[in-house]
Amino acid sequence: MGIQSTINCPDCGSAIYLDSILLLSGKSFQCSNEACGVAISLSAADVEMVSKAFKEYENLKQKSVENAGSFQKQ
Ligand SMILES: [Zn+2]
Repeated sequence: MGIQSTINCPDCGSAIYLDSILLLSGKSFQCSNEACGVAISLSAADVEMVSKAFKEYENLKQKSVENAGSFQKQ
């Protein structure tokens, strides 16, 4: 399950509800204002950038866990 998030529509300012995992998979999300019709999505380049950042974050988290482990051994 992804992280639920809300952003404001760049066009009308209404809420656009999105899910981080679905957004990363390239899905587009439509403005909650039906009269507006704006849909947002990440470009392929953005998806790559964000998923890289995600992986780096996971690596950092892993490192901090390893550091915690070695700290406890001292
Ligand atoms: Zn809108």
